[in-house]
Amino acid sequence: MVELAEGIRRVTLGLPFGIDHVHCYLLEDDDRSWTLVDTGLGLPDAEATWAPILARLGGPVERIVVTHYHPDHVGGSGDLAALTGAQVFQGRLDYEQCALVWGDEHSPSLLGAYFAGHGVPVDEAEQLGADTGSLRRRVRFARDPEPLDPGERIAGWEVLHLPGHADGHLCLLRDGVLIAGDTILDPITPVVGLYPGARPDPLGDYVESLGRIAALAPRVAFTGHHLPIEDPVLRAQEIVSHHRERLDRTAAALGGGARTGYEVSRALFPDGLPPALRRFAVAESLAHLERLVLEDRAERVDDAGRTTYARRT
Ligand SMILES: [Zn+2]
Repeated sequence: MVELAEGIRRVTLGLPFGIDHVHCYLLEDDDRSWTLVDTGLGLPDAEATWAPILARLGGPVERIVVTHYHPDHVGGSGDLAALTGAQVFQGRLDYEQCALVWGDEHSPSLLGAYFAGHGVPVDEAEQLGADTGSLRRRVRFARDPEPLDPGERIAGWEVLHLPGHADGHLCLLRDGVLIAGDTILDPITPVVGLYPGARPDPLGDYVESLGRIAALAPRVAFTGHHLPIEDPVLRAQEIVSHHRERLDRTAAALGGGARTGYEVSRALFPDGLPPALRRFAVAESLAHLERLVLEDRAERVDDAGRTTYARRT
């Protein structure tokens, strides 16, 4: 556990993905109680990891805030709620999506059909739709959390809704400190993908969220991965330009004819990606293609369960 500023501590947990760690934050309230933001993946023995950390706080964890439902942020919320007795808070939309993706009604074939409709070859689409059983076992989210709405305050922190990386992504802001989750990261850029049942223009949402961060001009952003961002305004602007460039490359990848999201992803991302990364690549390409449609630079054609995009110039 690292003390980043007075009353703000960071706990870093390992992850078995391409990205090898996630940060959780502990925020001290005036009454010496604590708010935990994000929980990592569920651990085989959560108590062995967390008990020594909790013992060093000198006060109880009374609230757990989940920024978004991705496995590395929500996966340990059930365990942590049980260990601390704290109330879990999560955005309404975010919890709906969390229950849909990680709950019992989850349907891998739905996601497989979605990717097949975007041109992914059928055997590969099934792989993209399937979740690895081991990951699902490590998402033990807290059921029926207390809903947290934008504009509310929790332990003195203002709740912000900054969608894009996830539709219901929440951040906390106080005294120029942004607890950012995965809304901005450095040096990587957060994944922005289009998935079934999600908001229709995640990239548009995301660019707007980056504009809000620039306008709020926090002094520092403590992020879900990698180092704190000392100039969040500059980083937000850099990520906006990154996506502008990416949109131009996506438009170029459409060439002269109709292309599926899968074909575009093959032009934009390297060959030979493992299924989990190809899934991000196709979803990210679709987010850019949909933005191009909204900007009148491309058109979408849905025909007999297959979606293609063509350039408009
Ligand atoms: Zn993350």
